[in-house]
Amino acid sequence: MFQKSYLENITLSITEKCPVNCAHCITDSKPENRHLNIVHWSELLKEWHHLTSLKTVNVTGGEPFYASSELEEISFFCQREKLQLIVISNAYWAHSRKHALAVLSKYRGISHLSLSTDTYHQVSIPINHIINAYQAAKKIGISCNIKITGETADSIRHSELYKPLLSLVHPEKEILFQTLSTVGRASTMNRAKEISVVKKVCLSSSPLVRSNGRVIPCCHEIIALKQPNTLDMGNVTTSSEKMVISNIQNKWFFYYLRLWGIQGLYEALTEESLLKNTLQALSETDVCQVCYTLCSNKELEAEIDTLFTSFRLRLKIALGMKSIFNDTHLLMKLRYPKSTNTGTVPEI
Ligand code: SF4
Ligand code: SF4
Repeated sequence: MFQKSYLENITLSITEKCPVNCAHCITDSKPENRHLNIVHWSELLKEWHHLTSLKTVNVTGGEPFYASSELEEISFFCQREKLQLIVISNAYWAHSRKHALAVLSKYRGISHLSLSTDTYHQVSIPINHIINAYQAAKKIGISCNIKITGETADSIRHSELYKPLLSLVHPEKEILFQTLSTVGRASTMNRAKEISVVKKVCLSSSPLVRSNGRVIPCCHEIIALKQPNTLDMGNVTTSSEKMVISNIQNKWFFYYLRLWGIQGLYEALTEESLLKNTLQALSETDVCQVCYTLCSNKELEAEIDTLFTSFRLRLKIALGMKSIFNDTHLLMKLRYPKSTNTGTVPEI
């Protein structure tokens, strides 16, 4: 199964500041953004670790190394609790290999460094920074990969720009590719035509806690939505971790997307509706882009919320979670409706 166990992972977006201002940024990160310091990250992790079977903490931003004291706090916690810590960075700090070594040596809890680069990053951050960070990470035993947006294995093989990097890394194992998401600052850009088969179902592997405490289901397209939407999972600055985890476990629409994706949702709709027509019109688009469109529109959201009050549909999801993920939490929560005439159940 390619989807990971959802609550074994958490992603923390510890700042929305970034030293650069890429044209394709879906989080709208930039140097002028205010760095919020309102979430007590180690307290949050302590409670989350206690309530779930947490194994991996991912840290992203903005640029996480910009929030050095928060990163240090998280690194210390993960080292102490023996959790895997993955940090995603653009390597702006790696202007020399010596400096990269000095920076990484401060964070002993980091187990994996995921370096991101592409032609937009390279307007401000030369590829040498990625090479320095990669070499420094390897020297002190941190595993490392490089994530490139908007390119393919073939295009980088023929590019002079990536030559020094390719001579250093294992291209199949250490280089990952992702398609350009046309939301956020990239909303006017053209998306690549091919749609990855795996992206036909929701592949989110962890909830994402933003620097303002808001919890959302992933770090994909939906991260660009600033307004509250049906997939929001709460806020750790105003609710307890227990409440937020309970919200996550009640997101029937989200679990449906993880099991059967957008195509499954289209097939579940028997009657003509705005939702059905919208899904049909977007049938060639990948699941995250459709998810973003649905959650940006209040009318469509209302239809989704109504659809997922159906007991029959909830039962199907609960059984799917049990048989595909061996996850029984929805089955345990499901209550038979008091009145089966309407086919609806109250919120659980
Ligand atoms: S480096 Fe990443 S976070 Fe920073 S502006 Fe570019 S895309 Fe956004
Ligand atoms: S389908 Fe929606 S929730 Fe799932 S990863 Fe994509 S944007 Fe996130």
